[in-house]
Amino acid sequence: LEMARKTVEDLFIHELSDVYSAEKQITKALPRLAKAATNPLLAEAFTAHLEETHGQIERIDQLVELTGIKLKRMKCVAMEGLVEESKELLEEIDKGAVLDAALIGAAQKVEHYEIAAYGTLIAMAKHLKLDDAAALLAATLVEEKGADEKLTKIAEQGGNQAATMDSK
Ligand code: ZN
Ligand code: FE
Ligand code: FE
Ligand code: FE
Repeated sequence: LEMARKTVEDLFIHELSDVYSAEKQITKALPRLAKAATNPLLAEAFTAHLEETHGQIERIDQLVELTGIKLKRMKCVAMEGLVEESKELLEEIDKGAVLDAALIGAAQKVEHYEIAAYGTLIAMAKHLKLDDAAALLAATLVEEKGADEKLTKIAEQGGNQAATMDSK
């Protein structure tokens, strides 16, 4: 536990390092989720977001180059927990529509964590007058919101499919 969060800049660096760790963890989790998904649209959504996530990590690298910030080596323990929960689902639920619904829920928890993290980082970057950094973070926030909305649409379509199957 490091205690050096005295200024907004310290906090910004801490939160940026945290989300960097979160993104790295997500790149390891998403291929597993894609493999577990039955609905091809869901598998495609996970694969597409994996590609976006590589770009999001690159944006943080760019931000670091731009600002000269030195990231802390740390682990986002919240993301560790969310990834762990998704692994539990894979162990507990057979492949199919129910697992897909569970994976969508787990992935949306991840996206909502990221949306909160990037929203906070953008506010701090603006406060610190790091406008270019704020723009990079905003580009990622758009992707996180897009991923969340895509999952909602797949859930609604998948839910309809499952209902149709039940009534047969
Ligand atoms: Zn810390
Ligand atoms: Fe992300
Ligand atoms: Fe975190
Ligand atoms: Fe994301």
